[in-house]
Amino acid sequence: MSLVDGVGRSIDYLRLSVTDRCDFRCVYCMAKNMTFLPRQQVLTLEELQRLAALFVGQGVRKIRLTGGEPLIRPGIVGLCRTIAALPGLRELVMTSNGSQLARLARPLVEAGVKRMNISLDSLDAERFRAITRNGDLRQVLDGIEAARDAGFERVKLNCVVMKGRNFDEVPALVQYAIDQGIDISFIEEMPLGDVGRSRGETFCASDEVRSVIARHHALLDSTENSGGPARYVRLARHPQTRIGFISPNSHNFCGSCNRVRMTVEGQLLLCLGQDNAVDFRALLRRYPLDDGPLVAALRRGLQGKPLRHDFSGDGEVQVVRFMNMSGG
Ligand code: SAM
Ligand code: SF4
Repeated sequence: MSLVDGVGRSIDYLRLSVTDRCDFRCVYCMAKNMTFLPRQQVLTLEELQRLAALFVGQGVRKIRLTGGEPLIRPGIVGLCRTIAALPGLRELVMTSNGSQLARLARPLVEAGVKRMNISLDSLDAERFRAITRNGDLRQVLDGIEAARDAGFERVKLNCVVMKGRNFDEVPALVQYAIDQGIDISFIEEMPLGDVGRSRGETFCASDEVRSVIARHHALLDSTENSGGPARYVRLARHPQTRIGFISPNSHNFCGSCNRVRMTVEGQLLLCLGQDNAVDFRALLRRYPLDDGPLVAALRRGLQGKPLRHDFSGDGEVQVVRFMNMSGG
């Protein structure tokens, strides 16, 4: 089985959001005051499992659990165990803010989660709190260390770079990744949702981030590709650390897009930067025992997967959905 979209792109990667809620309120992801979904609008654990099985049955080989913060969803470890055991799935991975990892890293490895991405935008406790609006840096650093020691095949940091907020910390964040023996990716901020500030003022292109790193390290271009949008470099003197650049605004990567996203409301998003969606929650609930209509909707939906996003790079909102709704 394999899934192919209307222009021949092979789709084998599902990003599955397990909650829209979060213990942080990062300035680039959420507004200060957010209203979260009422419980009945959120997919149950059983519905999430059914969708995962259905997508894997149709050819998806990699699932990333995300959110919101996936580790605050009750029952998350059991959900991971069930999904990781699906025959045909190559890897189950996760993106987390790290706040719960000191406690959960090991259970997640035992449940079958192969790799962990952890967001880290600053190494300064006050700045970290300002960016996340209420995050505790120490708790996250403890979580990163727990993840490093827990036995994941890879741990990677994700950092959204913003001028005037954390751009000056890029060298320190690279050094931290080197010291931990893990990878780090620098992400350009995307214009998703009205977060109550103009993103254009703080926007920082990946090429600038790369130039700053190149002042401190000899960089070796790498052709490594995780099938995703990141471009990687290696550090000549620290081979264990890879540095990624995710540049949705300055380097369009839509031609090789291999993914779709499922929101926790059961909306299948065909593109992060467009509004096209298919309502799987309605189908799940209308056909509790018959996957046929869901498979047909998936295959039909993929024919309408947009060619590309329309982020222009001026930082203004182009998609009203917040990132916590899209599933990062
Ligand atoms: N809560 C988890 C976390 O923060 O890692 C998972 C969900 S979060 C939405 C997934 C990723 O999206 C994080 O690395 C976060 O930094 C990134 N992100 C959120 N809003 C963004 C935006 N507007 N532009 C670029 N990246 C964003
Ligand atoms: Fe929460 Fe992650 Fe969004 Fe930050 S980026 S508010 S941690 S979902």
